[in-house]
Amino acid sequence: MALKFHSVEEITKIHTRLTETFQSGVTVPLAYRRKQLLQLARLVQENAEAIMGSLKADLGRHRLEAALPEVGPMVAGALLSAQKLEEWTKPEKPEVEEWRSSWDTTIYKAPKGVVVNITPWNYPWVISILPLAGAIAAGCTCVIKPSEHSPNVSQLMADLVARYLDPNAYAVILGAIPETTHILSLKWDHIFYTGSTSVGRVVAAAAAKNITPVTLELGGKSPVVVDGDNTDLEIAAKRILWGKQQNAGQICVAPDHIYVARKHQDALVAAFKKVYADFWPHSKGALDSASEISHMVNDSHYKRIQGLLSNTKGSIAVGGGSTGEILRIEPTIVKDVGLQDPLMGEEIFGPVLPIVPVEDIEEAITLIQRGPTPLVLYVFTDSEVTKHKFVHRTQSGQLILNDTFAQLGVYEIPFGGQGDSGYGSYLGKHSFDAFTQRRGFINVPLAAEPYMAFRYPPYTEEAFQA
Ligand code: NAD
Repeated sequence: MALKFHSVEEITKIHTRLTETFQSGVTVPLAYRRKQLLQLARLVQENAEAIMGSLKADLGRHRLEAALPEVGPMVAGALLSAQKLEEWTKPEKPEVEEWRSSWDTTIYKAPKGVVVNITPWNYPWVISILPLAGAIAAGCTCVIKPSEHSPNVSQLMADLVARYLDPNAYAVILGAIPETTHILSLKWDHIFYTGSTSVGRVVAAAAAKNITPVTLELGGKSPVVVDGDNTDLEIAAKRILWGKQQNAGQICVAPDHIYVARKHQDALVAAFKKVYADFWPHSKGALDSASEISHMVNDSHYKRIQGLLSNTKGSIAVGGGSTGEILRIEPTIVKDVGLQDPLMGEEIFGPVLPIVPVEDIEEAITLIQRGPTPLVLYVFTDSEVTKHKFVHRTQSGQLILNDTFAQLGVYEIPFGGQGDSGYGSYLGKHSFDAFTQRRGFINVPLAAEPYMAFRYPPYTEEAFQA
């Protein structure tokens, strides 16, 4: 499907329209925000089949993998924001020193203003809509720029947003790099960006020109550490392979590689073999037409993963097959992978999972400390001692014990990176916070004048002593 991209003139016009709308104040009343949030929930509920169809068309995604991590969370995110509006927007009254008690000292939750959300193709609906729910709840106007690589999703999103939401306040701009470059040249009050680390640098540099605050939700290699002495390897294998095979491993929080003590590697591989056979009991395994695994988004990503697999020095322990015509790659476990292996160079972003044998937990911690800060660090352990070591001696956006991928449904904790994996966060109230200015406010009463007199010139020693 070919998208018709917006022209530079159309993009500028949309930006002007959204700026005028924000400045008019119409997006600020809570009744307006609530109505738009309920419309957003309706948009998803009434079009759930079409939304799942767009994910099937662009990524070959099974309905369950579309419903659980995308359709359900979008409805929940919009409804939660509508329900919590009063609580989240309530001005704070901080405690102040006694002598300033009459000053009306307040922190208002002001909308940042006109914001843009630039999104990738891999979880294209939630990554576009959950920040939008935060922006609406905060009282902002918002543009979404979805990816050109998921055209069925992007076109449907443009049509539905125009149909369900206030077109003067919310819009979808269709385009690729040139259109996004023009978007980035305009003045926004916040840029929310999800995508690769390299493009994240381009976005941050463009934002710096206008001193625009940015949220960078980037990728990277999220490690899994399996503490073989203190975990059930079969449960660990099941939870790791389940998370890895979602969307064919094209997930920012995908388990990227595994560190396990050398002495436990074979037992872990045996557990993966068993789990693989349980997950895909068909004659051709995961490549069987009955298996419904997702495909690679396009030919270039398919070839990139094939290249990594043919150049690895490790040995394929599970999977390894592929079906070129439909861009499917079998979930594949590679064992005995070294640190210099191509599989350990870039974020894999596909269904290949290397196992890097290490001496012990200490070596795994050292490797994590030396590498780029990951978006997520997964650890499988039942040991309090091991848990304590990872909590206190490693850094990452999130630290998840004994599961993968499931954290995205937990709105109470912030989702975001650290260091190379980005900065800022969202989900639930954290999405509202991302688009909210904590605006300091005081009103110094004129009646306070008598006890303020000491600060005015001419300065005297008596005033200083007082
Ligand atoms: P990408 O960076 O190529 O593209 C993301 C968006 O940026 C798209 O809308 C694209 O049109 C735009 N873009 C691309 N190049 C640009 C440029 N030079 N200038 C301006 N805009 C540009 O990312 P992708 O391939 O769509 O997504 C995959 C990456 O996203 C992976 O690294 C993955 O880990 C990361 N990701 C991170 C998260 C997260 O929440 N942290 C979630 C999903 C994906």
